[in-house]
Formats: sequence, structure tokens, C-alpha cells
Amino acid sequence: MTTSLNTSDIQTQMHQLAERLHKYNHEYYVMDNPTVPDAEYDRVFRELQALEQANPSLILADSPTQKVGGMALDKFEQVTHEVPMLSLDNAMEEPEFIAFNKRINDRLKSDQEFEFCCEPKLDGLAVSLLYVDGILVQAATRGDGAVGENITANVKTIKSIPLRLIGDSVPARVEVRGEVFLWLDGFKAFNENALAQGSKPMVNPRNGAAGSLRQLDSKITATRPLGFYAYSLGVVSDEVEMPDQHFARLEQINKWGLPLCPEVKVVKGVEGVLGFYADIQKKRNTLNYEIDGTVIKVNDIGIQDQLGFVARAPRWAIAYKFPAQEEMTVLRDVEFQV
Ligand code: NAD
Repeated sequence: MTTSLNTSDIQTQMHQLAERLHKYNHEYYVMDNPTVPDAEYDRVFRELQALEQANPSLILADSPTQKVGGMALDKFEQVTHEVPMLSLDNAMEEPEFIAFNKRINDRLKSDQEFEFCCEPKLDGLAVSLLYVDGILVQAATRGDGAVGENITANVKTIKSIPLRLIGDSVPARVEVRGEVFLWLDGFKAFNENALAQGSKPMVNPRNGAAGSLRQLDSKITATRPLGFYAYSLGVVSDEVEMPDQHFARLEQINKWGLPLCPEVKVVKGVEGVLGFYADIQKKRNTLNYEIDGTVIKVNDIGIQDQLGFVARAPRWAIAYKFPAQEEMTVLRDVEFQV
């Protein structure tokens, strides 16, 4: 016998799920110390999302599904993003990616085979880099999407991030966004060394990257094996025309001297995306940085603009993730870096 839930039961369930997600967000984004695997977080998030889709009038004003997860710590100066730094919706399985492709076609009232820019989903921390007259003047974390942390001094220690852009097509003001992550060989060496010295190892590369970027002493950040790959533009002054394809913009960013992930590729349609996903999944364990899936973006900026955004994510992109890895790094009697 199936029992249907009444409004008050649904509200109670929504509150309980939201409370759990608020707690997990705090542990993950503020403490850099998650207590559940990402797969568990994603499961609870989707349970709440499903309840909300079935009962849109009951969505809580502060529901974690309606906003970007992090927050800016007040030990850093705060930076208000001129263009919000959003999250991404995600697809866990092939039918969900196919549904995404259909959704965007339905919205555009079309039946086209889109060109997609396929990128590895780098498992680090989103960072915004603001260049004025070609000089790096500010670096910030995503924070809650609207306000991030000023981490300029720390970011300046990352060797692959240029302090000055090169070339003659650099806009007077340009914000490049991308992911700061830990190189895996450096992460392993750091932890081996930490254990040998009796000091604290890092829980995992993502937490290690987040902790390294949020040091109050940038000399410590300078010792960490951090890398950076650019994946988009934020604010751009309009005296220089930018290409009208996402991938061409990435190539332009690369010409200015910023690193681009070598695995990024443009493909045609759903078949092309499924091929990229399978290839990169096979390659995953050979890469020197951690990835937890792919990010698939409509390549044409005009179509991106037509599709626009929902509260916390663009409609023209999706994180098509790899199957969940349930395990958490658990080392008994070891205290970790935070
Ligand atoms: P997300 O990680 O699903 O996607 C958005 C982020 O992807 C961007 O901010 C950017 O940093 C990153 N990214 C990597 N490669 C990219 C590329 N090529 N192009 C664009 N963006 C790229 O969303 P989120 O809001 O950052 O985090 C949510 C996820 O974090 C959850 O799905 C969960 O896996 C994890 N999480 C875990 C816990 C926990 O307690 N274990 C808590 C909160 C969040």
C-alpha cells in the first residue's frame, strides 16, 4: 500500500534534507573538512531537488538547491564579483545528459545538433583573476557566487599564472576564470613527506588546494604544488572584440599566456559528447590532476546568451560526472591539514 505524504510531512522532510546539506556545505566549504563522501552529498541534494520539483510551492527560501554552496571567510578581504560565479547542474548518467540536450533544444524550439566544448571537470577551486592593463591586480575565490575572498597574494605564488598578460589583443579590463588544483605527483610527495616528518597530511587534492589557497601566509602557499587551467571569461571591457565561440575564447586566453587544459575538445552532438566522456574516463588515472567528470558547454556564445541562467547555474552547460566513488580518505589516528 502506498501512503501519500501530506504538506506538513513534505515540509518536514524538506527541512531535514536542507539542514543536512547546510551542515555538509559548512564542513566542505568553510572548514575544508567534509564528513561524508561527495556521492552522499549529491544523493541528499537530488532527493531535496526531486521533492522541490514535485512541490514547487513549498521550496524553502534558503534551500541549498537555489544558491551556490560556498561562502567567503571573513579572515580575508571580501570581493564582490561583477559577474556572479555560478555552480553547474549535473548529470550522473547518459540519459540525464540526453535529457539536458533535449531541454535546451526544447527551450530554443529547435532540433539541432549542437557543437559542444567538452572539458575535464577539474577537482580544485574556482578562482577569478582580474587583469587591468594586462597586470594581475586581483584574485578571488567563488565564495557564495556573489562575494568571494581576496586571495591575490597567494595566487601570485602560483608559477603558471602570469602576473602580466602578453599579446596585443588584451582588453584594458579582463577577468579570467579557472580552476586552481594540486598536481597529483606533488600532492603524493607532500603527504609522504608530511607523514615522514610527523606533520599533517592533506585529506585529498581538492581540500589540499582549498587549504593552500586560504593560507594567511603566502610563503606557505608558495611551497604547495598548485596548478591552474583557465575555463572561462568573466567581465571584459568592450574595446576588444572577443570571439563568438567558447573554445575560440579559451584559445585567446591561452595566447595571453594563461594555461589551458590540453584535454579540452570541441565535438558535435550527443554522440560526440559520449565519445569524449568515454575517452577521458579511460585516461583519468593517467592524468596528473584529479577530475570527477566532464563539463559540457554549448560552444556558440549566441546560443549561450539565448539560453541564459537559472538561480545557481547556466542553462547552456552541465557537469556530466563520473560514477560515484563512495570512499572517503580515512586514515585512523592521523590529523589532517585544514
Ligand atoms: P560543482 O563542483 O558541481 O560545479 C561547479 C564547479 O566546477 C565550478 O565552480 C568550478 O570550480 C568547477 N569546474 C571544474 N572544471 C570546470 C570547467 N572546465 N568549467 C567550469 N567549471 C569547472 O559545483 P559546486 O557547487 O562547486 O560543488 C558542488 C559539489 O561539491 C557537489 O556536487 C559535491 O560533489 C561537492 N560537495 C561535497 C560536500 C561534502 O560534504 N562531501 C559538500 C558540498 C559540496
